[in-house]
Amino acid sequence: VAHIIDGSKIAQELQKEIAAEVQDFQADTGVTPCLVVLLAGSDPASAVYVQRKRDACARVGIRSELYQPYIGFSEGQKTLEGILCYLNEEPWCHGILVQLPLPSPVNQYTIFDLINPDKDVDVFNPLNVGLLVQGRPRLKPCTPHGIQEMLRRSGIGIAGKKVVVINRSDVVGKPLSSMLLQDNDEYANATVTVCHNRTPPALLKEITRAADIIVVAVGIPGFLTADMVRAGQVVVDVGVNRLGGKKLVGDVDFAAVSKIVEAISPVPGGVGPMTVTMLLRNTLEAAKEQVQR
Ligand code: NAP
Repeated sequence: VAHIIDGSKIAQELQKEIAAEVQDFQADTGVTPCLVVLLAGSDPASAVYVQRKRDACARVGIRSELYQPYIGFSEGQKTLEGILCYLNEEPWCHGILVQLPLPSPVNQYTIFDLINPDKDVDVFNPLNVGLLVQGRPRLKPCTPHGIQEMLRRSGIGIAGKKVVVINRSDVVGKPLSSMLLQDNDEYANATVTVCHNRTPPALLKEITRAADIIVVAVGIPGFLTADMVRAGQVVVDVGVNRLGGKKLVGDVDFAAVSKIVEAISPVPGGVGPMTVTMLLRNTLEAAKEQVQR
């Protein structure tokens, strides 16, 4: 039976460390790190995620502010851009998080382009994405960094390992695969394969069975099945799916897969709390950079 990678516990440890650092920073500078969350649109899941992030901020002593602009009209994009331009210049605001998805017709890429790179705690601005790909990140994106840190603190090596990432989105697969293949990070140097919708199922199975570490983030309950894994592997389940009754599950057929592999991260209690924790870390790092300048 697999070892369960306890993301919640690791996240709690990290949050304790961050809370202590926030206190030291305040004592040194008199400044409280502040995250501003922009929640545009009416996606109910987004509202839950935003509340979770704000609760976590409060736990570690980071101030958080919520902006909920109404942008569902023809000038909505300009409204959002105006708020961003204001926040970009405000010295009390150290981190800006634009909760996705943005309602249409807002073009998310023009919004990413506008976020002050110093305050871009989600690492969406193309300057920061470029620095990440070149192996010289200022901040690391929250979900990939959470996965990396969860594995590191679980004593699971990455260098030289064969890692498969089933996802190629801007939030998970692209940044994670890029981070894991860097040559200048002791916690990278993996051989990375990225799979997606156009990967034929037979090939996907061949690749997952050959991997040492499988990261799955497709958003389909029970997607990673027992026949796709083998003994000795580590499985990281990024998926977040709500089953009919509201039960939260990941992308892995947990009951079957956990009997075969060596270690597995559960849902809930795996990557989710790590992602939130890395947002706190990034807000503190951004504040340090901005205040020390
Ligand atoms: P997304 O943009 O929809 O990405 C899903 C990825 O899965 C895409 O790359 C897609 O391929 C691939 N995919 C879908 N069906 C597949 C199949 N049959 N075979 C192989 N690949 C397949 O979503 P996302 O934003 O990256 O999020 C993915 C999941 O992770 C969601 O469940 C989300 O809720 C969860 N998530 C969790 C956290 C956390 O902190 N726990 C953070 C972010 C996301 P194509 O590119 O070809 O469409």
